Amino acid sequence: MTGELREACGVFGIVGRPDAAALTAEALFALQHRGQESAGIAVLDEGAIRLHKGMGLVHEVFQLEDVKRLRGEAAIGHVRYSTTGASRPENAQPLYVRAHLGPFALAHNGNLVDALHARDRLEREGAIFQTTTDTEVVAHLMARSKRQSLEEAFQDALRQLSGGYAFALLTPGGVLGARDPFGIRPLVLGRLHGMPCIASETCALMAIGAEYEREVAPGEVVQLDLQGGVHVLTPGDASHEKLCAFELIYFARPDSRCDGESIYLARRRLGQQLAMEAPAPADVVLGVPDSSLPAAEGYAAELSLPQELGLVKNRYVGRTFIHPAQHSRESGVQRKLTVVSEVVRGRRVVLIDDSLVRGTTMRHLTRLLRDAGAVEVHVRIASPRYLHPCHYGIDTSNRDELIAAAAGEDELKGLIGADSLRFLSAQGVLRATGRPDHCLACFTGEYPVPVAESEI
Ligand code: AMP
Ligand code: SF4
Repeated sequence: MTGELREACGVFGIVGRPDAAALTAEALFALQHRGQESAGIAVLDEGAIRLHKGMGLVHEVFQLEDVKRLRGEAAIGHVRYSTTGASRPENAQPLYVRAHLGPFALAHNGNLVDALHARDRLEREGAIFQTTTDTEVVAHLMARSKRQSLEEAFQDALRQLSGGYAFALLTPGGVLGARDPFGIRPLVLGRLHGMPCIASETCALMAIGAEYEREVAPGEVVQLDLQGGVHVLTPGDASHEKLCAFELIYFARPDSRCDGESIYLARRRLGQQLAMEAPAPADVVLGVPDSSLPAAEGYAAELSLPQELGLVKNRYVGRTFIHPAQHSRESGVQRKLTVVSEVVRGRRVVLIDDSLVRGTTMRHLTRLLRDAGAVEVHVRIASPRYLHPCHYGIDTSNRDELIAAAAGEDELKGLIGADSLRFLSAQGVLRATGRPDHCLACFTGEYPVPVAESEI
């Protein structure tokens, strides 16, 4: 059941622009890596909210005509990435609701750890749920609120829930953005010709030509009014920020920035740190394309080894991780990555990946490299051993599927077919990203937001 509520997504919102829907579509293209299952846009047109959403990639859901039809001065958008069981059209977002306080549309990235509890309670009180998303829990809490406005009802609903989240809410008054109290999920504020916007990542701002203004602070709720004003409705507190380390390690796009810091450079430093902690006796460094190439670059530079193009990715096969069943994941990897044998034949290879989750990618790659003539294959992972499930919105499913949780380092080495295997330390992650703290729960088991047994 919990699996059905877990999701990792991208959100965007903008006000004060007659082309709000087109800009949102553009931003969603840039956020496509955050979710490939469904996409949607809601617009505000003279007090009324209209919605278009569907299953598939942004370009499959939105034809030019769909975007043109979405006339309005403010919009929010969403791309969704879900886990097994939740791949249903009704779970596509934004979620549209007509409440007694007025119409609203809600889009969400992340996971609420107490959503099941809240849902049970709401159902006992007579609420009828249409989806299996925890976004709908927020919508029901808002719809039942005794507050005077949608804006207050939204803040009230968030106070009753906890987790790792970023929300975009569209109301007749504009767009609201909210980030969880630990800032686990990212959200930034930008401006396009004076008009404010919010986005999960800065790459979406760049895509529409907007300037980055600042991060939405952990716990902050901001309102972008229709005239372009930005109001802090709930102040945030950056002092205990625990941004998801996995955003920097894997999830965010390398051309995005976090607190002004380049994701690409952070990944390069993860690779350098890995080289310092775990040098390998090798002739050539290969990164698993594309997400691990910056770490491979850093690793190679630190050890003065050549980094070469030993693996080629077929860009037209979807991310292997999103196939719900293991067998389709396996064939996904096979179709997706091939070896340039000239690079690896007769050489000792060190293969860098950003993470080892189920081990599907590595098992396949070590075999491919040996078949192509590599004499040794050393595997180095630019993140710690992934031992605990994520409860804050990144799909890493249940503990049984986490290969590092099932075996010791030596056994793991055998399971993935490597000559040696080492991981970056949790301290090493902090050293490389240069931030005082992160959520590192999937590596350390220290969950910043407690997760009740019943929610696991
Ligand atoms: P696995 O093959 O299951 O060990 O997963 C690790 C590989 O999948 C690495 O190459 C990562 O770049 C990628 N990966 C890690 N986490 C995720 C995620 N949440 N979604 C999609 N891909 C991921
Ligand atoms: Fe990110 Fe891991 Fe924390 Fe989940 S548990 S939010 S993946 S660091």
